[in-house]
Amino acid sequence: MVDYVAHFEATLAALKDERRYRVFADLERQAGRFPHAHWHSPAGKRDVVIWCSNDYLGMGQHPKVVGAMCDTARTMGAGAGGTRNISGTNRAVVALEDELADLHGKEAALVFTSGYVSNLAGIATIARLLPDCLILSDALNHNSMIEGVRAAGCDKLIWRHNDIAHLEELLIRAGNDRPKLIIFESVYSMDGDIAPIAGICDLAERHNAMTYIDEVHAVGMYGARGAGIAERDDVMHRIDVIEGTLAKAFGTLGGYIAGKGAVIDAVRSHAPGFIFTTALPPAVAAAATASIAHLKVSQVERADQQAAATATKTALAQAGLPVMATDTHIVPVMVGDPDLCKRASDLLLERHGIYIQPINYPTVPRGTERLRITPGPFHGARLIAELAQAMMAVWQELGLALGDARAPSRTGGNDRCRRLKRRPSPQRQANLARCPIMAITSRHT
Ligand code: PLP
Repeated sequence: MVDYVAHFEATLAALKDERRYRVFADLERQAGRFPHAHWHSPAGKRDVVIWCSNDYLGMGQHPKVVGAMCDTARTMGAGAGGTRNISGTNRAVVALEDELADLHGKEAALVFTSGYVSNLAGIATIARLLPDCLILSDALNHNSMIEGVRAAGCDKLIWRHNDIAHLEELLIRAGNDRPKLIIFESVYSMDGDIAPIAGICDLAERHNAMTYIDEVHAVGMYGARGAGIAERDDVMHRIDVIEGTLAKAFGTLGGYIAGKGAVIDAVRSHAPGFIFTTALPPAVAAAATASIAHLKVSQVERADQQAAATATKTALAQAGLPVMATDTHIVPVMVGDPDLCKRASDLLLERHGIYIQPINYPTVPRGTERLRITPGPFHGARLIAELAQAMMAVWQELGLALGDARAPSRTGGNDRCRRLKRRPSPQRQANLARCPIMAITSRHT
């Protein structure tokens, strides 16, 4: 007899053993009071401050966005009523696609139910429609892109993260005649680094390849109209397909691709992840459109967010915490051990009312576990000072090394993880040796 339940229990036990078992905080965000939220803790309801939200600009509570959602639900109802092919195409989704095409200066856009689905469906469908396509994928691409590559079922080559010399080598080897799709992100969300987009476009043009960029962590955040890093770097027109989410800086839900009309229409006509699932509800689409339209003209949210990110990096570095220097809004603080990372997160929440989810393997390589902080426009000076104080107290309590006041460093002091007062386990030492923070790791298998 197969003991099915025992199998699942064993799987969970293995995760717990590796300190990879995930426990979610039951939060109730307070619209109008972001980043404050109620935490429904085992001991009852408590007020906490969220420091790890991907609603980067707080647009999820913006009156225009909430207003558009409520008004549309009242006029068009709650659900979409079907897939796009079967009665689900609604006025609000069509208007959203027009807004997105305009945002990115492309002929057309297509909306999906999430950014994950847009990558999975977009990459797989584009590659499948190109005969004998070769996908060239950055080593640190997000899981949704990797799943898109898998679903495409075509040949793939992985280029070392952000290494355009390596990409060129692979392009030359592939030859000019074969269809090639280069896929990469603009902002890598765990290390907060940025792709050399112009260099990638140069190579794509020289070697006759298509480009597909994931701007999930950049849309709304960068560029004069919030179209992302490609807009900021004035290379948006050189990218074939731009993929983004409506769930992070735009504060709602959904994903999309934008590009030439024929490419988008082909994905619309062939992608199972588009065809066989219910459309985005009109209220969500209208809220997203309101958010995009607002961020096309308003610079306040972006400016305040950048200021908060800079102030947070400075305050944490001055407190001697191992902050990684990033060129973006993302502020990773290195811990380098899954158990300590989880304990630091628990202590911050339980003792200090600060919520920062621990980031462990497989989201980041083993040995580079971290707290990933995302300051927003509503994290003012007082909250930043309280964060630095609380983190110092937690670091001291856990026996983690605090350095001298200094500037953030590229490694976030991963070197300093070796100076934990507690001697790292042999397994952890092996992991650290295998995975220094800047090592090339491939999550593609
Ligand atoms: N692409 C990247 C780089 C991401 O980090 C994520 C999610 O965090 C996604 C795509 C998926 O986006 P969504 O949350 O809208 O599904």
